[in-house]
Amino acid sequence: MREHPLSRRERRQLARVAIKARRRQSYIAPVIEAGQSLPSGSLSIIEVRHDTWCPKLAGGICRCEPEIETRMVV
Ligand SMILES: [Zn+2]
Repeated sequence: MREHPLSRRERRQLARVAIKARRRQSYIAPVIEAGQSLPSGSLSIIEVRHDTWCPKLAGGICRCEPEIETRMVV
């Protein structure tokens, strides 16, 4: 049995995700709102379209006001 439930690699990945979450990408809240408006058990695609100049497209922090579109698949 392993000492940690996650491997070292997984813990490092999780730490990187947490760092990004702390940077508070401004578009995450509207994406969560869009997700909450969908019926439970449905399968949907939430498309986030950033402006071409947005630093997010190069791995940075979003500075634009992206278009958020929700499409229900099932
Ligand atoms: Zn953006």
